[in-house]
Amino acid sequence: MERPLIDTYNRIHDNLRISVTDRCNIRCYYCMPEDGVEFVPRAEILTFEEIERFARIAAKLGINKIRVTGGEPLVRKHLDVLIAKLASIDGIRDIALTTNGVLLAEQAEALYRAGLRRLNVHLDTLDPALFQRITRRDDFHRVMAGIMKARELGFGPIKINAVAVRDLVEDSIVPLARFGREHDIEIRYIEFMPLDAQGLWQKDRVLLADDILAMLENGIGPLDPVPDPDPRAPALEYTFRDGIGKIGFIASVSRPFCLNCNRIRLTADGNLRYCLFAIEETDIKHLLRGGAGETEIMDTIRAVVHAKWLGHEINRGGFVPPPRPMYAIGG
Ligand code: SF4
Repeated sequence: MERPLIDTYNRIHDNLRISVTDRCNIRCYYCMPEDGVEFVPRAEILTFEEIERFARIAAKLGINKIRVTGGEPLVRKHLDVLIAKLASIDGIRDIALTTNGVLLAEQAEALYRAGLRRLNVHLDTLDPALFQRITRRDDFHRVMAGIMKARELGFGPIKINAVAVRDLVEDSIVPLARFGREHDIEIRYIEFMPLDAQGLWQKDRVLLADDILAMLENGIGPLDPVPDPDPRAPALEYTFRDGIGKIGFIASVSRPFCLNCNRIRLTADGNLRYCLFAIEETDIKHLLRGGAGETEIMDTIRAVVHAKWLGHEINRGGFVPPPRPMYAIGG
């Protein structure tokens, strides 16, 4: 058995996020510009076979959780084929997908058959007009149809990821939580992070977890922290005292969780990153395409984890955003 992936802060890495494309079928204004985005040429995108080979090697180093992301992963054709490949890897015990849900209704059955169960659907509001204002697309109803189809098929847990931008989504916070209580879907409020392509992020545009908590308690009722949470899970989880509904906060700005980070990321064009905000990254593609053996790839993964910093520096003066925007890294 190989040694686990432990960094210089004694954090064990067993969670791999795989971005399968930088392309997306919507245009959230806080993520990418309306047009003029230069996507990675298709020939530079890892094939399913290359992703599978990398994941098999990473599994031997203790990776046991995989999250498939994008851009928007469902724009990559036949994604169910990749899910089935990943589900067949020894040691991988958990596969999840983060999607914007626009193509979910039509692909849900194939993904379910391929072995996928856990879904996070990105949805900031239940107001179709605000949805269109944020995403610059008129696809709200397709997203809702996707969520309902996934529920019907038995996906679970299904979570909704809602990016909380101040002076934009305040009126959507409580309705989303009510929707989650009604449909047994956990709502995850994500603090707006400095990962957009146009440098729009400002600290005062971040709706903080504590602000949202207060809104929910005023609008619905008291919330209690979930006891004994998994310290390495990024979300702060709460349940409503009346026992109906669960809420999560990804509070990267106000309550960073880097001390327990267990994640590494593979970008669609084959670069390995030890952190969402990393400035540096390591090219794995030339190893996969250059005939490198398993040991060389394992050593490279170890070196990336060994070089990992303590955490993001958003709250420090002189913070430098990563050279890659969110859509080219994946959540
Ligand atoms: S910011 Fe980086 S180090 Fe911190 S939790 Fe996220 S990926 Fe891990």
